[in-house]
Amino acid sequence: MADSARYNLALFGPAGSGKGTQAEFLKSKLGVEHIATGEMLREERARGTDLGQTVGTYLAAGRLVPDEVIVAMIRHRLEAPQADAGFVLDGFPRTVAQARALRDVLGNLDRPLDLAMVLEVPTEELIKRLSNRAKVEDRDDDTPEVIEERLRVYHDQTEPVLDYLADFVQVARIDGTKQVDEVSREILQAVG
Ligand code: AMP
Repeated sequence: MADSARYNLALFGPAGSGKGTQAEFLKSKLGVEHIATGEMLREERARGTDLGQTVGTYLAAGRLVPDEVIVAMIRHRLEAPQADAGFVLDGFPRTVAQARALRDVLGNLDRPLDLAMVLEVPTEELIKRLSNRAKVEDRDDDTPEVIEERLRVYHDQTEPVLDYLADFVQVARIDGTKQVDEVSREILQAVG
């Protein structure tokens, strides 16, 4: 890593792959900012802001919020001083257009994206995990139909982002079926 005091990371993986848990681990271990677009959108919706009202139907349907909405939100977070010590992106970029915008924003800040990591988990296991999560977390996008839509969207729109990034960022693929601690260990190893 070019600058060991600073980690600029992106964590990928379909819904249920453990991104949120592992991003929190990286935050506590490395002191980086955890930037989770899904969480930010759910907060906006809960607060009933204009943005929250705009994005509500997308969240409930498991569809992607328009790129320009997300990019404006993320630009603000990346430019804030809290991201100076490094960040882990969780759930962004989800489209190639978002990845291009990320490249521009980081270019303007004169910061690289150091590493992209992908948590890989087979679909049947994801469906099992998300159905269990639906019982404890009360998320309206963890119903069977919406789960299916979110996994389809990941396959169609987010997997191509990894091919796009691979031309200029190292992409580490991590087996997300292992125990949480083991996955964390592999992630730390990849971060180096
Ligand atoms: P997540 O918590 O990351 O699974 O995100 C929950 C929902 O928020 C997704 O199903 C999308 O509707 C929306 N969302 C989160 N991040 C993005 C993004 N980068 N682009 C578009 N929509 C997003």
